This record gives sequence, C-alpha cells and structure tokens, in this order.
Amino acid sequence: MNSTLLQALAQCVGDANVTTDTKQLSFWSRDCYWYSPVLKPELDQNAAEVIVSPTTLEQLREVIALAVQHRVPITPKGAGTGNYGQGVPMHGGVLLSTVKLDKIVEINPQAAKVQAGVKLIDLEKAARAIGAEMRFYPSTLISSTAAGFVTGGAGGIGSLKWGTVWDEGNILGATIITAEENPRVIEVSSHAEMMGVIHNCGLTCIVAEITYALAPAQHWEQHALAFDTFEDAVLFGKHLAFEAPFECRLISTHEASITPFFRQLVKQGITPEGKAVVFLVAAADAAHVAALATQFNGAPTWHGSHEDYLKTGKLQLSDFSYNHTTLWAMKADEKWTYLQDVFSADKVIEQYQTRKAHVGNSVLTHIEWLKWGGWITPAGLSLVYFENKQKLWDLISYCESIGMWVANPHTHKLDEDVRWNGQPVLDAKRMWDPHNLLNPGHMNAA
Ligand SMILES: Cc1cc2nc3c(=O)[nH]c(=O)nc-3n(C[C@H](O)[C@H](O)[C@H](O)COP(=O)(O)OP(=O)(O)OC[C@H]3O[C@@H](n4cnc5c(N)ncnc54)[C@H](O)[C@@H]3O)c2cc1C
Repeated sequence: MNSTLLQALAQCVGDANVTTDTKQLSFWSRDCYWYSPVLKPELDQNAAEVIVSPTTLEQLREVIALAVQHRVPITPKGAGTGNYGQGVPMHGGVLLSTVKLDKIVEINPQAAKVQAGVKLIDLEKAARAIGAEMRFYPSTLISSTAAGFVTGGAGGIGSLKWGTVWDEGNILGATIITAEENPRVIEVSSHAEMMGVIHNCGLTCIVAEITYALAPAQHWEQHALAFDTFEDAVLFGKHLAFEAPFECRLISTHEASITPFFRQLVKQGITPEGKAVVFLVAAADAAHVAALATQFNGAPTWHGSHEDYLKTGKLQLSDFSYNHTTLWAMKADEKWTYLQDVFSADKVIEQYQTRKAHVGNSVLTHIEWLKWGGWITPAGLSLVYFENKQKLWDLISYCESIGMWVANPHTHKLDEDVRWNGQPVLDAKRMWDPHNLLNPGHMNAA
C-alpha cells in the first residue's frame, strides 16, 4: 500500500486508529469462516494491508474517500463473527473497522438508531432500560455489532415472532455511505431500497447508522427439557411454535447425540445422556412449561431467569443454540461442521427419519423454530461430520431430493447463497460502488 495513502489515513483518524501490524492484520482479516472446512483452506491466507478504525462519521466518510481515490479495496468489519467469509479481504486493501463507532444516536420504546459498531448487547441493555427490547438478536449478542448483524446475519432469538432481518418492519432504515471519490451520505428507508443494504455482506455500501424497530420488553424465563426421542422433542417444539399459550423467544431442538458436546450443561446434569433436548426461552413459568412438556413425554431439567443474559457469568441457554451448537461440536472434534438445512413444517418428522435412515449419525439434527418470510419454519443448523467436499455436496443434493431447502454456508460468494437479495443488491452495487472496491471477490456477478 502506498505511503501517501497510509499517511493520509493516519492524519484522518489519528495514529492510534491505524495499524499495519501483521499480527493484528491477520487476526482482524478473519471472520468465523473456519466453521467451514471448505472455506478454511480457501480463505486462510488472505489479509488486509491496513486496519483503520474511524471514531466519527466524518472520519468514516473521509477514509472511504481516500481509499476510493487511491482505488484501494475496502472490507468493512464489525466484530468478525460472520460465518461466510465475506469479512475476509480477498485483495488486500483497507480493513475498515466500525467498532469505535459505538454511539446510540436515538432511542425510544419503538425504535433505536445506532451507529454501525454498537454492540447488540449494549443496544439490548439500552432498550431494556426504557421498557423495550430487541425484536430478535443472534446468539452472538454479546459480541456482534449493529451493522454486522443487518449486513451479514439473518435472525435469532425472537425470530419466531418477528421473522428475520429481511422482513419488513424490523430494520427501519440506514444511513449509508457510498464508495465514490466524493462519497455520498444517503438516508435509506424504503423497504425496497433496504434490500440493497440488508445482508449485502459489505458489498454495496458502508452502513454508518442503522435503525432497529424494538418490541415492548417482556419477562422471559429459560427452560431446558429432556425427551425420550427426538421426534417427541420436535413435536413439542412444533406445538409451541404454532399453538403455544405463551410467547416463545427461542425453541432450540437437539438430537440426543449432540448433547455430550455441551460440556457445561452435561456437568450440571441439564442434558441427561441419551435424551433429546429442547432449550426454550418463553414468557412462561416452570410449572406451565412442565405441564405442557408432559404431554410430549418430556420433563424439565433446568429453569432460570432469561434476564440473566444481560449479566456476565450466568448460564444462557442461547449460548447452545443457533451456530453456537456447531462451536461446541467443533470444540469436541474439529471435523464437525454444519449445514443450514430447512425442513418443511408439515413433513419435519418424515424428513428427519428419512435422512437419518440414509446418513445415520454422520448428520446430527438441530432445529431452530423461527418465522421466515411469514412462515413458521423448522430451520436446521444440523451438524455434519466432514469427510470431503464431494460428500458434503452430495448431502446437500440428498436433502434437496427429499424436499428440504439448503442455504449452503460453505461458499463465500454472496450470489451462491440462495438467500441473497438478487437484483436489489446488483442495483445498489452499481449505484453506490461504481469502482467495485467494496469487498471485491465475494460475488460471481461483480
Ligand atoms: C457461534 C456463532 C453463532 C452465531 N449465531 C447467529 C445467529 O443466531 N443468527 C445470525 O443471524 N447469525 C449468527 N452468527 C453469525 C454472526 O455472528 C452474526 O450474523 C453477527 O450479527 C455478525 O455481526 P458482526 O459484527 O460480527 O459482523 P461481521 O462478521 O464483522 O460482518 C458481517 C458482514 O457484514 C459486513 N459489514 C460489517 N459491518 C458493516 C458496515 N458497517 N457496513 C457494511 N457492511 C458491513 C462485513 O463485511 C461482513 O460481510 C453466528 C456466528 C457464530 C460464530
């Protein structure tokens, strides 16, 4: 990277907010792509040439202007917990860290406007302080950032009621900065235009601020329940998802063979050997949940206050849900990886049993119940014992052949992910990143 640009960047944000230290570069140039044994060898060697951490929106805009004027690629980065590798610079350049843009701009019980780098846990705490809460958040609540979740994530705890980042009404708007020599600051608020921002994986614009819709705060409790069979656990989850007499924020369902990976829970007797489990966060007390579980041959094994998630050191069942499940499995044996394998709500048992007969315990089923495009959906993040890429691809084809739907997390190309927004992203890329400097290399179409 030429020294004129480095000097200009340092002048803009101050020496303390620029680094070319190789250790820092290699650490921050990664995200959590290494959950995929396919992406790991593809992306391991890539790194940015400089990390820049602006502390104000004016600095953010100027950093973008400087990089574009020098035709240097820019990779925006929040906490780096994204799983698909789009936080990895493919062509060096500037790693634009937003973590120091951490101010809550405005908050009221209906909505919060926050800077890109605000940690979601801080947003949730601020919302709770005024009687509100986030509609939904990823299981990486503690670390992930406001812009990172909207541009790189999907949904999480709360998505059963509210849906995902794509669903209208959840993400109300964004202040974005274009990648032009004289960058424009644009307020985006229509849902159609937001489709060029949501899940753009850093490819169309830099998000400076983002507005989240909030929900009224509720008193949540967490419950762990054990079932003799996975089928019972799934039917319990399905009943709650469709007909619960109380609201549920999380219904996380795991086959018995997954539970030994949850070492912390095993030690506390929360996941009895040989039992399938459901981790539930619900606006319901222990007696109510236990009575319902009995109808599905289930029994509670643990109960605690969900509000503990705002404190450190307390047991959080969501730390075993979503892609945290994969993390626990990988800690036990790094050959475990995962698939985002979506079942049909009306055929979930049949699809589970058919697949089990075909693949045995090389795939362990883990289902999160959530709302996707308005439909209550048993969305899998199943564990897969990795042998080779061909077998993984064969497994995906097999799942599709039995009517499942797979969002393949083993590609870093945005347009190879079935969930990508298509034309709105292409239009946004053309309008806001005319020199193709934002995160190049992560889309076949650009
Ligand atoms: C253990 C584990 C569990 C997870 N659970 C969930 C879950 O429950 N739900 C879920 O949806 N995801 C989940 N994820 C994925 C990830 O944690 C979330 O999507 C998270 O919100 C990403 O936030 P981040 O700050 O880490 O983003 P990063 O990883 O830093 O960035 C994600 C993407 O957004 C882009 N980006 C970041 N900031 C900006 C910006 N200001 N402007 C433009 N582009 C930007 C980056 O270039 C990158 O492509 C999980 C990941 C792990 C490792």
